[in-house]
Amino acid sequence: TAAVEAVDVVRRYQLDGVAVEALRGVSLRIEHGEFAAVVGPSGSGKSTLMHLLGCLDRPTSGVLRVGGVEVSRLSESELAGLRNRTIGFVFQSFHLMGRTSALDNVALPLVYRGVGRAERRSRAAAALESVGLGHRMRHRPSQMSGGEQQRVAIARALVGEPEVLLADEPTGNLDTRNGVEVMAMLDRLNEERGVAVVLVTHEPEIAAHARRQIHVRDGLIEQDTVSRP
Ligand code: ADP
Ligand code: ADP
Repeated sequence: TAAVEAVDVVRRYQLDGVAVEALRGVSLRIEHGEFAAVVGPSGSGKSTLMHLLGCLDRPTSGVLRVGGVEVSRLSESELAGLRNRTIGFVFQSFHLMGRTSALDNVALPLVYRGVGRAERRSRAAAALESVGLGHRMRHRPSQMSGGEQQRVAIARALVGEPEVLLADEPTGNLDTRNGVEVMAMLDRLNEERGVAVVLVTHEPEIAAHARRQIHVRDGLIEQDTVSRP
């Protein structure tokens, strides 16, 4: 089975009584261990697609399977459980707690999964070490560079050992040097751990890191290409 599979997915929003079709029939498989970039103009449906792939939202119609499970059959709490087990999120603006240590930020998702304190701390420390921040565990995000903060966010996304890491403009708030560093980290985690990475980006140099390029336009996938290794 694919890590995530969409079949003819439509997502319609109601805005002041007017229907907006953000996705108009998208079919897509994200395989285990893949590295894909989603590209396309502003308003084309990229964020909507990411929210669906990440179980933050549901299709209006069509079929979405995450880890082989069809999301339409799940209650809200079952969907949240599937999301917590399967998906890790990285955002443009990091979404870290600025005045709490990096270690506690990374351990937080494990609180919701009922993991005990000692195990939370050891797993969070291992995740921070895997992004090269073992020496910064006690620091607060507010004391860190943007690149370091995004690596803390990546560690938080990975601590629950997701199948898929979804990153919406992960380098959008970073300068070139920090952006390159974050992309190198995502490449390595993809290679070494086999976690599938799907990222949205506006920057061609960032998109070029991905083996697969998914071009979205007007709520449809207009092109989906895989380059040779
Ligand atoms: P992108 O991420 O490519 O910029 P989005 O997925 O954010 O595109 O948006 C796709 C379309 O759906 C746009 O026309 C946008 O205005 C609309 N849209 C997105 N979210 C909502 C919402 N919550 N309510 C109404 N319309 C929305
Ligand atoms: P930006 O950085 O441009 O403000 P983000 O990439 O941070 O946007 O967020 C993208 C979307 O994800 C937003 O619609 C936001 O509401 C949602 N979001 C942000 N943080 C979380 C979170 N921790 N869990 C679920 N959804 C989130």
